[in-house]
Amino acid sequence: MNAEYRIDELPILAKGDVVVIGAGPAGSSTAATAAAGGISVLMLDRKEHIGLPVQCAEYVPLSIAAEVPVPAACIAQRVEGFVTYIHWEQVAQTRAPGYVLHRDVFDRYLAERAVHSGAKLLTKAQAVAVADQGVVIKEQGKLSIVKANIVIGSEGPKSVAAQAMGCSLQTLAYAKQITVKLRKRLQWAQIYFSPSFPGGYAWLFPKNDLANVGVSLDLSLGGNAATALGEFQQYLMKEGVISEEVIRRTGGTIPIGGPQLKIQEKNLMLVGDAAGHTHPISGEGIFPAIVAGKIAGSLAVDSIRRGDIDILKQYPLQCLTRFGEFLKRGFERKGEYSINWGKTEFSVLVRKTWFAFPEYFES
Ligand SMILES: Cc1cc2nc3c(=O)[nH]c(=O)nc-3n(C[C@H](O)[C@H](O)[C@H](O)COP(=O)(O)OP(=O)(O)OC[C@H]3O[C@@H](n4cnc5c(N)ncnc54)[C@H](O)[C@@H]3O)c2cc1C
Repeated sequence: MNAEYRIDELPILAKGDVVVIGAGPAGSSTAATAAAGGISVLMLDRKEHIGLPVQCAEYVPLSIAAEVPVPAACIAQRVEGFVTYIHWEQVAQTRAPGYVLHRDVFDRYLAERAVHSGAKLLTKAQAVAVADQGVVIKEQGKLSIVKANIVIGSEGPKSVAAQAMGCSLQTLAYAKQITVKLRKRLQWAQIYFSPSFPGGYAWLFPKNDLANVGVSLDLSLGGNAATALGEFQQYLMKEGVISEEVIRRTGGTIPIGGPQLKIQEKNLMLVGDAAGHTHPISGEGIFPAIVAGKIAGSLAVDSIRRGDIDILKQYPLQCLTRFGEFLKRGFERKGEYSINWGKTEFSVLVRKTWFAFPEYFES
């Protein structure tokens, strides 16, 4: 029992088949799929405005369009791939066509799509606990409970649903990003590896006349994200790539420890960052969040229709089949990157760590 409240005395706010915690790409993908299958879905988010603030470099591979519609209004520009730099020298150019999104517009679109499919969306509602009786939520300081047969935790790395499943805290990278003006438009993203970015890297994703310029560090290996970003900004200014004015600042945490060991238990499933479904090196998480959301949503439909909660046990294997290899290799390579940090010659280490190089794919 929680010291602040007794669950059985809380008012019941709603009852339904599925409650989805978090209206990011993972939650909206889950809610859209489940609601389209005809079951009742409530999606809640602690934010007032879905998609804001943007905490993302906003890149997705073109293949995302096979998973979910990407309306033109969500796309800022197309990029052809990325140029990799080690020690500030260009060493590779890799074709990986993708979009740089307007991530706020995209997240809003995904949430609206879920609502059009029949899901209810409740904003300014924070899940504070998940218990057998349902999800305890706080709205404007008031506690209530939402009862549901199935609970989906898609509320990011600090998931209350994961806590309820006894999952350990995730290992996180810390990222800082600025949006700046480009001196010249670019068709290729830029990725920089340097000892200045311990356990991580720096990026530039062009967005028409602007660019998202950021760094992500594994702080267990040292460094300071703000200092590293400042150095990177100065470098790009000196090279004449960007101008001085900063339009926006953001940052956030990125799971880098690989998938949680448990992503489903009883009537609970974890999706997206909550499940650790983020590539441990690139930090790419939108694509797996959307794919896992579709899997979780459709298993929820089957489970409710057949009255069989055990159907949810298929969730981990289905995720593994769709993107397990992508995350597993990233997890292994991240482990090697960390263990050998400062010990192996830097460019040899990066070549094993980053998918621009054949060494990344060697077993
Ligand atoms: C700086 C940075 C750059 C990145 N760049 C990229 C990139 O270019 N490409 C890419 O693919 N990935 C990128 N990522 C990772 C990507 O943003 C995430 O993997 C992705 O957002 C995961 O989606 P999600 O739905 O699981 O979580 P989120 O998008 O974090 O959504 C979670 C939602 O849950 C809500 N929430 C949280 N806690 C609660 C609660 N207790 N109750 C109710 N609601 C709650 C939040 O308000 C939020 O709306 C980046 C991450 C960072 C930090």
